[in-house]
Amino acid sequence: MHELKDKRVVIMGLGRFGGGVGAARYCAKHGATVLVTDLLGEKELTESLAKLEGLPIQYRLGGHETADFTKADLIVINPAVDLRNNQYLHAAKTAKVPTTTEINLLVERLPDRGHTIGITGSAGKSTTTAMIAHVLTAAYGESRVHLGGNIGGSLLDVVDTLTPDDWVVLELSSFMLDTMLHFSPHICVVTNLGDNHLDRHGHLDAYVRAKKTIFRYQNHEDRAVLGPSVSDWRFDCPAVAIIEDEPIEEELLIPGEHNQLNAALAATACESAGVVRAKAIKALQTFPGLPHRLQLVATHNKVRFYNDSKSTTPESAMLAIESFEPHNAHLILGGYDKKADMAVLGRYAAAHCAGVYTIGHTGSAIAEAAKGEAKHCPVRSCGLLEVAVQEAIKAAKPGQAVVMSPGCASYDQFDNYEQRGRLFAEFVLRYTGDE
Ligand code: ADP
Repeated sequence: MHELKDKRVVIMGLGRFGGGVGAARYCAKHGATVLVTDLLGEKELTESLAKLEGLPIQYRLGGHETADFTKADLIVINPAVDLRNNQYLHAAKTAKVPTTTEINLLVERLPDRGHTIGITGSAGKSTTTAMIAHVLTAAYGESRVHLGGNIGGSLLDVVDTLTPDDWVVLELSSFMLDTMLHFSPHICVVTNLGDNHLDRHGHLDAYVRAKKTIFRYQNHEDRAVLGPSVSDWRFDCPAVAIIEDEPIEEELLIPGEHNQLNAALAATACESAGVVRAKAIKALQTFPGLPHRLQLVATHNKVRFYNDSKSTTPESAMLAIESFEPHNAHLILGGYDKKADMAVLGRYAAAHCAGVYTIGHTGSAIAEAAKGEAKHCPVRSCGLLEVAVQEAIKAAKPGQAVVMSPGCASYDQFDNYEQRGRLFAEFVLRYTGDE
């Protein structure tokens, strides 16, 4: 375990997702002399800095200084830091300064590895992680379930209060696995393997290797739950491997076969954590989804409203379309123009949806393409989200869905995708009269 008392600890990358903040706070509270350094400046980090107010922490923002790294006793590296050809980490290595990560500091301090579940994979990590936490919370109560890792926040804030009976559920990114050297969760879940993140890991082999490190410290008393695309990983895994390739059949609040599969993985992981499968599935049926990912935000006159604001690429909007019965969804599309080809998405949407409502910079191009395809699907160029919501509410019939899955980034009309998602939910409540 890395000692902290009276050590000079450098937090490399404060970031905006809570990991850097958690590590800085924990180290400061445990007697370390903490220096936080980030390439971003004070302005970009305002929210994170506010959470550290009053703590004895030094800052070097808007850039790094080599001497900070060579004189440190320990460096805590943020997952966003690119480790390749990093001059500061290179200097630290030459000076023999040890490095660690927030997740590493956490797992070293957990009271019982037997109550840990780790989830990794290319897609579906956050959803499956949140599903597992939802089921365990229903089974064991909120106070006994703790969610951490890549999903945001930091469990270092509560680690000193955890008891051996508490369940710790960790979403693990490839970076975390790459650097989490001496720990595997008791129950490991691998959702699937695609080819994203290759820029960071160089090529697929390295990416697969990083993901497989989730098993490295497992033993035959542990469990590994594997999705269909990684079923052959059972040969590399010392634990009892369970292949989960059948999506659950029960209906969920969140649509899409990919979510039925995520639910199957979650149910099996929870069974290994002592929850009766039927109870796990019952709990999964009340899982409302993660914010901004096909999240059910309202039901009005038997019309369901879904916020999929995290959909910022045409591919994710297509996956959203496929998640609904043909000609059943009223889809809100469009946004910031990343120069992706929107015509394919426009045509696909018109062929599969009950109505298409376009917004933002790419709106007119999408509407143009959609109109060419639309036989039974009205296409409206709405410009503003507020107008699109009003139009979709007017057109939607009981049993249908209104889905905002823009397939584009949000920067042309919103601060970020979270704000776009919040406004969607607000407009829905306002114009259905449910406010
Ligand atoms: P991650 O945390 O791995 O990025 P999320 O749970 O946030 O994954 O889901 C992100 C997107 O990935 C979803 O909106 C959906 O488009 C897609 N996705 C989720 N689960 C799966 C799955 N099992 N297989 C393929 N794609 C999926």
